[in-house]
Amino acid sequence: MGVTGRGTVTKAGYRAYINSPEWAAVRARYWASKLPHECYVCDAPRQKGMHLHHRTYKNLGAERLMDLVPVCPTCHDLVHHLHRTNPVAARNGLWGATKYARAMVQKQSKRRS
Ligand SMILES: [Zn+2]
Ligand SMILES: [Zn+2]
Repeated sequence: MGVTGRGTVTKAGYRAYINSPEWAAVRARYWASKLPHECYVCDAPRQKGMHLHHRTYKNLGAERLMDLVPVCPTCHDLVHHLHRTNPVAARNGLWGATKYARAMVQKQSKRRS
């Protein structure tokens, strides 16, 4: 498979991979594992349409399950939005932006309750 082990990933390559049977198999393996099933960002329990987000694209095509975290679609958008638009959040790469989103959402939900 073309993208295996490549350090950089093009948008087109990524999209092709996300629609591939290989990625479907990785997802199935993840959900069958004992790894967390709730959203990494907001702690919502697994729901239909839950995404698996890459902590890193370094091993794209040959992911370790540890490279993935579940996120709900809304939180997933937030993570990638922060990664694209917020230099502070993006300072430590994609995983940094993921943790930044979690800190942000956790602070907000604490304020509400
Ligand atoms: Zn969430
Ligand atoms: Zn993602």
